[in-house]
Amino acid sequence: MRDTSHGAHETAATFHAVYGTQPTGLWAAPGRVNLIGEHTDYNDGFVMPLALPHTTLAAAAPRTDGVLRLHSAGADGGIVELRLDDLRPPAAPGGDWAAYPAGVAWAMREAGLPVGGADLHYTSTVPLGAGLSSSAALEVATALALDDLHGLGLPRDELARLAQRAENAFVGVPCGIMDQTAAACCTAGHALFLDTRDLTRRHVPFDLAAAGLRLLVVDTRVRHRLGDGAYAERRAGCERGARALGVHALRDIPHAHLPAALEELAGAPVVQALVRHIVTENHRVEQAVTHLEAGRPRAIGPLLTAGHASLRDDFKISCPELDLAVDTAGAAGALGARMTGGGFGGSALVLVEEAAAPDVTDALHTAFATAGHTAPRIFPAVPGPGAHRLDT
Ligand code: ADP
Ligand code: MG
Repeated sequence: MRDTSHGAHETAATFHAVYGTQPTGLWAAPGRVNLIGEHTDYNDGFVMPLALPHTTLAAAAPRTDGVLRLHSAGADGGIVELRLDDLRPPAAPGGDWAAYPAGVAWAMREAGLPVGGADLHYTSTVPLGAGLSSSAALEVATALALDDLHGLGLPRDELARLAQRAENAFVGVPCGIMDQTAAACCTAGHALFLDTRDLTRRHVPFDLAAAGLRLLVVDTRVRHRLGDGAYAERRAGCERGARALGVHALRDIPHAHLPAALEELAGAPVVQALVRHIVTENHRVEQAVTHLEAGRPRAIGPLLTAGHASLRDDFKISCPELDLAVDTAGAAGALGARMTGGGFGGSALVLVEEAAAPDVTDALHTAFATAGHTAPRIFPAVPGPGAHRLDT
């Protein structure tokens, strides 16, 4: 936690420099990687994210005049000042960063919660747009700060739901509930097995250091735009599949029924491939939970690699840089690897023996340089805690 507390001091100092007063407190929310369970969350399926040590910090103080002031070290343009009463979705076009925190205040007020004005200043060590969910970290840090400033005491899953509503309805990104739940609910040393249908969750042991393993995040530096059509297209395709198969969501197709379902969809090959990914991916998540709870973390390696092939070939959301990362890691001796996040760039995950991590890292750098790609940023993911208030 050394980095976080250092960041806390700086964040509080900058709050003072920006607003001329001391913050009431500091709240942190982490970025996440999804270990396995990709694009299953809008199919009522299973996901298994873990919180990164990378966090977004919000320094905040309440105001009594119904004004929301927002400032981020990660954004140009100075203080954004908004009146709570004027907040209406959708936010101004242009993808302004302030829509994320403003959307959270809007969603809380929409839900009838007594949220008043506030000054907020953010710093973050979560890379933006890298598929590590800086957006949910920003939203959940905001939600927890406003919750605490106003003494609401909302449960974690409610904070996650409000943050998701902000991103869906106010920012206009049709994301599922995974990212916000990960930021709000994860615990250190564990992955979070989440059933996105009923939001039941289980903390699954994933103590990499104790097992002599490393989980590397390979940020390809290729930036995706989730707001564009591809995500909505996949989502609509999955909904078409569910309708054609007469189920509420693809989650309702058991793995054992997959051959029959695929046969039924023979006339619609694109939807068929989407369905195959979702059903097999849900199954992979369940297998991963079984392995981790039985103390067999190495056994999830092949599940990761199979998940990548499914995302690449059936869901068609990989890209050359992600494929290169996965193939290179595998060839260099990794236990398994896959793209993580929305796709079309962002990051890959590589599970590797601790002793092999340097060789695999070198192989990745060499392969990217040889292919003429931007150098990837590679760092180990250590499962960290979910959102929390910092002691100041
Ligand atoms: P991801 O969530 O994978 O990082 P998104 O496109 O969903 O990618 O969200 C990234 C956007 O979130 C940024 O472009 C920016 O608008 C906003 N954002 C996230 N964190 C911050 C921050 N600390 N300061 C300012 N804007 C941020
Ligand atoms: Mg995001």
